[in-house]
Amino acid sequence: MDNESEERIETRAIHAGQQPDSETGAVMTPIYANSTYVQDGPGDHRGYEYSRTGNPTRTDLEANLASLESGAHGRVFSSGMAAINTVLNLCEAGDHVVTSNDVYGGTHRLFTQVFEQYDLSFDFVDMTDIDSVSDAMRPETELVWVETPTNPLMRVIDIAAMAEIAHEYDALCAVDNTFATPYLQRPLDHGADIVCHSLTKYLGGHSDVVGGALITDDAALDERIGFYQNSVGATADPFGCFLVLRGTKTLPVRMDRHCENAHILAAWLDDHSAVERVYYPGLDSHPSHQIAAAQMDDFGGMFSFELDATLEEAGSVVSNTDVFTLAESLGGVESLIEQPAAMTHQSIPREERIAAGLTDGLIRVSVGIEHVEDLQADLSRAIDAILQ
Ligand code: PLP
Repeated sequence: MDNESEERIETRAIHAGQQPDSETGAVMTPIYANSTYVQDGPGDHRGYEYSRTGNPTRTDLEANLASLESGAHGRVFSSGMAAINTVLNLCEAGDHVVTSNDVYGGTHRLFTQVFEQYDLSFDFVDMTDIDSVSDAMRPETELVWVETPTNPLMRVIDIAAMAEIAHEYDALCAVDNTFATPYLQRPLDHGADIVCHSLTKYLGGHSDVVGGALITDDAALDERIGFYQNSVGATADPFGCFLVLRGTKTLPVRMDRHCENAHILAAWLDDHSAVERVYYPGLDSHPSHQIAAAQMDDFGGMFSFELDATLEEAGSVVSNTDVFTLAESLGGVESLIEQPAAMTHQSIPREERIAAGLTDGLIRVSVGIEHVEDLQADLSRAIDAILQ
């Protein structure tokens, strides 16, 4: 599409990276279920040699995601973790990484249980406190890894401030933008070097595919990422790419509904007598509200709330919903509910978990796009059951 960058994100979500198929006119990018490609002479190929290195369905998705993030280059992987792994591949033994103390558990595990053994070192700090990030920086810091909003307390980290600190030390600033999506937040515009996604969540949007992506504006950096993408080989299959391409077309309309429903439910719970606290950056009371309002276009579909309840009582709330499904993960059209203390954050020792604000009564929801009154009635019923 001509002048793609001038189109608005709703239009780019549908058209960027996608042209009707030149052979057949098919409007939707075909699934190129194919491993190898004919060569017209040795080394004389038509752009594709082998599907680990490049596949046309993947190429269209990579261009689509790059456009959504206002970046020049996109790379797609078999999972979010494969994408994160690739950013760590850019570091060398002896390098140091600064990240947040409430980074996604899988990221924490990759850093400490995989990369520490290759002599990378990590500092986990409270990234809402900019001084603690500056204090953690060292001459050998190569990467500042940011995730915002964080899970499950929805803290919002100032991307521009993190990028500035990283660049003072010639380090890269990478941002996991999975929770916000490019519809709500575009980290490259705030100075980040790399944006990372778990495509499994909002970008896929239908809980039917696992994938990951990295986007950058820097051609040399993209070339290094591409080297590891091809060398390690954790690339996405064409069917998965097709599903994500289908998902991104409706990202803006889905996100609008996710945000609207989340806001209504968070505000209602904030006034509920059984609820101690609601963690939603869209509420004025959230400590990150101001930076969220400045950095994001809306506040997303994720929030947590704390009941004045025991582990068992909160467990019975999440087990007794009908419309909300009891499950980990997030970002699909269906609403999900979970109890961090017993599920996603169970591996953290109880005292440490509670000190970090993850109490026994904390419940996290991924608000879907069902009718909000059905969602409210469902939560209301499940909460009332423990009050009787
Ligand atoms: N980043 C965030 C913020 C996540 O929540 C997750 C998964 O839950 C990942 C990365 C990892 O993505 P995947 O499960 O696609 O490997």
